[in-house]
Amino acid sequence: MKADIRVCGSWERAHDRPVYTLDETCPECGAEAVNSAPAPFDPADPYGEYRRALKRRERE
Ligand SMILES: [Zn+2]
Repeated sequence: MKADIRVCGSWERAHDRPVYTLDETCPECGAEAVNSAPAPFDPADPYGEYRRALKRRERE
């Protein structure tokens, strides 16, 4: 079976983490869901920790 997992195209603004879905729209915010490959969220992304640190700073 061919996986066709999409990710909320606005997750960086709308959510704390990527919202994956099989639908064409995000189930949480209704934004267009985009193909998740190449993954917009890479756990090994060298800049990921930097972005997360910025997010943490915004909350403090
Ligand atoms: Zn969303």
